[in-house]
Amino acid sequence: MPSTHEVTNQVPPLVDFDAADHPALLEGLRREGAGWAEDELRALGRLAGSAQAQEWGRLAERHHPVLHTHDRWGHRVDEVEYDPAYHELMRVAVANGLHAAPWLDDRPGAHVARAAKLLTWGQTDAGHTCPISMTYAVVPALRHQPDLARAYEPLLASTEYDFGLREPTTKRGLIAGMSMTEKQGGSDVRANTTTATLNDDGTFRVVGHKWFTSAPMSDFFLTLAQAPGGLSCFLLPRVLPDGSRNPIRLQRLKDKLGNRSNASAEIEYDDATGWLVGEQGRGVRTIIDMVNMTRLDCVLGTTGGMLIGLRNATHHATHRSAFGAKLVDQPAMVNVLADLAVETEAALTVAMRLAGAVDRVSRGDEQEALFRRLALAVTKYWVCKRGPMHAAEALECLGGNGYVEESGMPRLYREMPLLSIWEGSGNVAALDALRAMATAPMAVEAVFAELDAVHGVDDRLDQAVIGLRKELGDADDIQYRARRLVETMALCLQGALLVRHGDPAVADAFCASRLGGDRSGAFGTLPRGLDTGRILARAYGAGAPTNSNSRTAGS
Ligand SMILES: Cc1cc2nc3c(=O)[nH]c(=O)nc-3n(C[C@H](O)[C@H](O)[C@H](O)COP(=O)(O)OP(=O)(O)OC[C@H]3O[C@@H](n4cnc5c(N)ncnc54)[C@H](O)[C@@H]3O)c2cc1C
Repeated sequence: MPSTHEVTNQVPPLVDFDAADHPALLEGLRREGAGWAEDELRALGRLAGSAQAQEWGRLAERHHPVLHTHDRWGHRVDEVEYDPAYHELMRVAVANGLHAAPWLDDRPGAHVARAAKLLTWGQTDAGHTCPISMTYAVVPALRHQPDLARAYEPLLASTEYDFGLREPTTKRGLIAGMSMTEKQGGSDVRANTTTATLNDDGTFRVVGHKWFTSAPMSDFFLTLAQAPGGLSCFLLPRVLPDGSRNPIRLQRLKDKLGNRSNASAEIEYDDATGWLVGEQGRGVRTIIDMVNMTRLDCVLGTTGGMLIGLRNATHHATHRSAFGAKLVDQPAMVNVLADLAVETEAALTVAMRLAGAVDRVSRGDEQEALFRRLALAVTKYWVCKRGPMHAAEALECLGGNGYVEESGMPRLYREMPLLSIWEGSGNVAALDALRAMATAPMAVEAVFAELDAVHGVDDRLDQAVIGLRKELGDADDIQYRARRLVETMALCLQGALLVRHGDPAVADAFCASRLGGDRSGAFGTLPRGLDTGRILARAYGAGAPTNSNSRTAGS
């Protein structure tokens, strides 16, 4: 072998790790009432970090879904073919109850356990978590129509993944999708032009197009259409009760930036049959219950992405040397990694707090419903906005290797903007938070109750909360100022949660870099005097390489 082929200073593969192994995740799990799920979570985390599951993720993303509009004889079939790896990922997700299972699980903390598992398992591949997420989210909306909920809920919660187009009630488990966005508008769904006309048997005839409908092999979709009584929500199965195909045409699949393992289709309802969900004219009010849950999953997906990005970055820096020293021992890199770690812990802490709120709301807690109303919109905006920047910086920690597909980092980077676009793009999420503040003053108080609970502990946080109150008192140009205002509230909330529940070193770094005057737009700009050694030790998790840095920056 020629000497030019000697490979040195390349990092070992990152495999056989526990994707759930982060103290902020495990602490959040216990704090929010799902400590009982820790063993299951760790087992799923080890599976997610296995070479096998990581390979499933790679294959599912690499081998794009293929649309078959017709069979060989020219009949319309409208089916999508996936790589077998996609089905393996779906099977594990469903078997572990990442979809609708918590809605039929009486144990307090069931939604928290599911949230922790979703962000853990999503580290294998984000694409397949889209249908998993929609199958979770559909239940509260479906409950607006109790007869449909009774028929479908047990199958949505089934832990069997039963792929293929058959009459839903004959299947062992169901997957659901959401079909709202039309060519002329996704944020403004009131502009939908799809129509629904009442049939003699009480069903509706649905005609129109949807510009984005992900997971088109779902067993049914919730969709919006203009009915005689106004914009309404409908359930459209792919297969009708008599076993025939509902005329839902898959026109083409989107050629997307990322999220490639998941098919996203343009579809036409060509006299399709639908069942009304909720009251006519209350379609947005009905489907918003689904949207809210998928918004939580956008936060969880981003947070899981931060975790795997951070893990890759720390792993690389631990093994790679430059200029005569390991990267992880070089002060500029310590700052970058610690900053990424602080961002990840802030996201984890607020994500688990929101999962806890969702869990308590599902058990009738009205105070938590107020908190969730505003805190979820605020967090969806901010955490998802931070995702692409976090992924870009984590990728850069790997240098050129991070820009190469085999590292997995480009896939992570391409996924992140979607989580910000979907279910309320940045502006829409920020404006929704403003709407919550204007229409539900009690929701504002619920968020402030969380902030006030730590009043007097950290002066930087106290000052930020005072500034937030002042900002809220000024209604001038409020939409123009929406992002700034919502960002400030999100940072105050993350800061308060970290000060109250988080690691002191992380909370200190967060308040110093995000709430004090010492802010910068880039990662790796933490001020001096922080315990970065401790922050990074948390980021490495159990089983971390023993040569990891444990110094304070500047020491
Ligand atoms: C990969 C992928 C999968 C998807 N899957 C689905 C799916 O399964 N089902 C589904 O229904 N949809 C789906 N969507 C569509 C998605 O929900 C929409 O793209 C999104 O809601 C934005 O709508 P839009 O694309 O029409 O953009 P627009 O609504 O036109 O918005 C464009 C921009 O304007 C901003 N904006 C909008 N209103 C305002 C305002 N009042 N003030 C200031 N700024 C504003 C938005 O924030 C955005 O940045 C998917 C999208 C993608 C990319």
